[in-house]
Amino acid sequence: MYDVIIVGGGPSGASAGRRAGMLGLNTLLLEKEDFPRYKPCGGGLSDHAISLLDFELPEEAIEWEITGAKVFFNGHMIEAHKDYRLSVLVSRDVFDNLLLEKARESGINVRTREKVIGCREMPDCVEVETEENTYLAKFVIIAEGAHGLLKTCVRPADTKEEYGICMVTEVPAEEKEIEERLGRAIELHFGVAGGGYGWIFPHKTYYSVGIGGVVKDLPHPKETMLEFLKANGFTGKYKLHGHKIPWGGIKRKVSDSRILLCGDAAGFVDSFSGEGLAYAIRSGQLAAEVLAGVCLEGGKIKDLKKYESLCQADFGTHLKYSLMFSRVMHRFPERTFKVFTSSEKMIDKYLEVVDFKMDYKDYLRWALLNFKLR
Ligand SMILES: Cc1cc2nc3c(=O)[nH]c(=O)nc-3n(C[C@H](O)[C@H](O)[C@H](O)COP(=O)(O)OP(=O)(O)OC[C@H]3O[C@@H](n4cnc5c(N)ncnc54)[C@H](O)[C@@H]3O)c2cc1C
Repeated sequence: MYDVIIVGGGPSGASAGRRAGMLGLNTLLLEKEDFPRYKPCGGGLSDHAISLLDFELPEEAIEWEITGAKVFFNGHMIEAHKDYRLSVLVSRDVFDNLLLEKARESGINVRTREKVIGCREMPDCVEVETEENTYLAKFVIIAEGAHGLLKTCVRPADTKEEYGICMVTEVPAEEKEIEERLGRAIELHFGVAGGGYGWIFPHKTYYSVGIGGVVKDLPHPKETMLEFLKANGFTGKYKLHGHKIPWGGIKRKVSDSRILLCGDAAGFVDSFSGEGLAYAIRSGQLAAEVLAGVCLEGGKIKDLKKYESLCQADFGTHLKYSLMFSRVMHRFPERTFKVFTSSEKMIDKYLEVVDFKMDYKDYLRWALLNFKLR
C-alpha cells in the first residue's frame, strides 16, 4: 500500500512526485511514455514558473532568453521590452525529463512505459489498474494532462466550450537567423486564429510555430496552421501536432475523497496566454503537501478539500480574470485586438502580467481607464 500514486510524469506529476518524496511520502509515479518524450508545446517557461522550482534550472536546459514581445495585428507590429528577463525557452523533452529525474532523486518509485487504465475509489484506499499490474494507495494524484479520461472519476470531461485547440510544429533554423528575426522577443499574431493567436518562439535550433484558439473558432485547425506558416515565410513540409488545452479559470471540481487532480487535468491554464507550466508545477507541489499533511501529520481525509482552496489562493484569481479577458477577446476579437495592440504601453503593461507583477484584474482595470482617457 503506497501513501500516494501519481498518474503522469509531466511537469505537474513530476513536481508532485518530487515534493512527495522530499516530504517522506511512500510514492509511486506511473508514466505511460518512455522518457524523454515529445510534448507539443511552445516551450515558454516564465521566470515566475522558474521561481517555483526548488533547484537551479541548468544553463544547458535554457535555449533562449526573452525580455519582450512583438505583437502583430492587421498588418502592423508593436514591440515592447522590459530591461530584465521575463522567460526562457526550453524544449519539453529535455525539461520534462529533468523534472522527472528530480522527482526520482527524491527517492520515489518511478515506473515509465506503464499506462494507467483505471482508478477505483474504495472505502480505505484507491485501486489503480495499469496494463500490467494493480496497485493500492491511500491517495491518488491524477496528472494525466489535457487528454485522457481518468480525470472523469473526479469531474465530468470538458465540453467543447471548456477547452481550446492548438497546432504546433518545430521549424528548423540556424541560431543566427533566429537571432536576427526575433532577438530577445517572441512573436504573437492576432487575427489569425479567431479569438486566439498564432506564435513564433525562438529555440536554439528551431522556431516553435503554432496557433491556438477555442474549438468553434478553429473548425479547420490544420488549414489555419498551414496558412499561418505560409504567411510567415515557412514553406517547407513540417510535422504538425494537434493538442487540446483546457480553458483555465472555469470552476471545475479538482478533488474527491481520495483523489486530487493537478496541472492540465485540473484545468489550470491561463486562458489568454495558454501558459500552463507554472500552474502545473505549483498545483503538483500543493497536492503533495496536502497529502503529506494527511498521511504524516495526522490530518483528516476531509483536509483534502484544502487543496482546492490553496490553489485558489495561489493562482485562482489570476486564472479567473485571464478567462474573463480571453472571453472578451473571443467575443469581440476585432475590437479588443485593436485596443490591445493600440500602443506600446498596452503591451509593456501586459508584460507585467506575464511576469506576475500585475494580475489580470488590475491590468483590465488599467486598460479600461487608460483607453477611456485617450
Ligand atoms: C501546443 C501547446 C503549446 C503550449 N505552450 C506552452 C508554453 O509555451 N508555456 C506554458 O507554460 N504552457 C504551454 N502549454 C501548456 C502546457 O503544455 C501544459 O499546461 C503542461 O504540459 C501541463 O503539464 P501536466 O503535467 O499537467 O500535463 P502533460 O505535460 O500533458 O503531462 C501529462 C503526462 O501524463 C502522461 N499520461 C497521460 N495519461 C496517462 C496514463 N493513463 N497513464 C500514465 N501516464 C499518463 C503523459 O504521457 C504525460 O507525460 C502549451 C500547450 C499546448 C497544447
